[in-house]
Amino acid sequence: MTSPVASAEESSRVNLLGLTLRQMEQFFLDIGEKKFRARQVLKWIHHAGVTDIEQMTNIGKALREKLQKIAEVRPPEIVSQHDSSDGTRKWAIRVDGGGLVESVLIPEGSRATLCVSSQVGCSLDCSFCSTGKQGFQGDLTAAEIIGQVWVALKSYDAFQPGNGRLITNVVMMGMGEPLLNFDNVVAAMDLMLEDLAYGISKRRVTLSTSGVVPALDRLAEVSEVSLAVSLHAPNNALRDQLVPINRKYPIDVLLQSCRNYIDAQKDSKRVVTVEYTLIAGVNDQVEQARELVQLLRDFPCKINLIPFNSFPLSNYQRPSGNAVSRFWQVLVDAGYIVTVRTTRGDDIDAACGQLVGQVVDRTRRSERHRAAAEAQVIEVR
Ligand code: SAH
Ligand code: SF4
Repeated sequence: MTSPVASAEESSRVNLLGLTLRQMEQFFLDIGEKKFRARQVLKWIHHAGVTDIEQMTNIGKALREKLQKIAEVRPPEIVSQHDSSDGTRKWAIRVDGGGLVESVLIPEGSRATLCVSSQVGCSLDCSFCSTGKQGFQGDLTAAEIIGQVWVALKSYDAFQPGNGRLITNVVMMGMGEPLLNFDNVVAAMDLMLEDLAYGISKRRVTLSTSGVVPALDRLAEVSEVSLAVSLHAPNNALRDQLVPINRKYPIDVLLQSCRNYIDAQKDSKRVVTVEYTLIAGVNDQVEQARELVQLLRDFPCKINLIPFNSFPLSNYQRPSGNAVSRFWQVLVDAGYIVTVRTTRGDDIDAACGQLVGQVVDRTRRSERHRAAAEAQVIEVR
């Protein structure tokens, strides 16, 4: 246990983990040092996985001592780690202020996708989302967002030379609405793309939004990552119910903002991923698939269907495999590229929309889930 005095001292230090190259350069200039130090420190933190400033040996002793007084490299605290039988690994992470978020690493052949959280809870209250049911409890700092990448690599010992690039893709699809934590999310994504940090291709970092249009318009000016939009309905009447922010920014306004984002990218051939969570009897009917085809005609997109993942306190049902196939077929026949997201990490409640709901309400897990998860839990502390 750290004493309150020690933690107050700690929190007043600058956490270097969340600083972009520009911010790190400014930090060194502000303390009267040369800005090339920023490149060295970035590599220590994000290439070598070093948190102890003392180990940053190409920085002179005097500067190391100075840095230790005013700065720190503090990754978020891992509360627990769970491994699924399908190779998916999930971490629960404690953020400043005490809240918990989760991140999930999903290996698929030669790729591995990390699903990253941006907020504790979410204020937007989509009717089918367990994170929304928690309400909004706080924004993650840039260090806590990029810290999820850092923690994942550390847990696989992937900072060691020769361990290759463990994380090939990042999706901002964990807890929270990333565009409502704009500056911190943009800074963290900057580090994901930065060669001195993680060097992930801009096409392989995806921000998913439920449609915060003014923030999406701003994003077009500062970011080149891929875009996914959570549509879930082919018309405003239904989307108003499922995704309440639609009442403020309706579908046509949202799709135009997505178009502007794509048009602002330097490379042509970019498309938006349209996410559509299929809920039995609500938005999974063939007529609704046809309506979606009409809505998205001429819109540069591919479509990702996500069969609804259940969680305690939800009355929605997952559609049958046949219903998913029928919906999929209508879209494919109309010429769309359509993928169906397979549920990964089901035995550890790591699927879309299930994150942390069970940390909050473990007692309501099904016995099957509980047994599977507990058999494989690795308690980190
Ligand atoms: N807030 C952002 C990103 C996080 S949610 C957004 O809404 O886009 C990531 C994706 O999972 C979104 O498309 C979201 O609609 C979907 N999702 C949420 N709850 C779900 C559930 N219970 N089952 C299936 N998909 C869900
Ligand atoms: Fe928030 Fe996204 Fe969940 Fe909606 S689906 S409540 S925006 S996290």
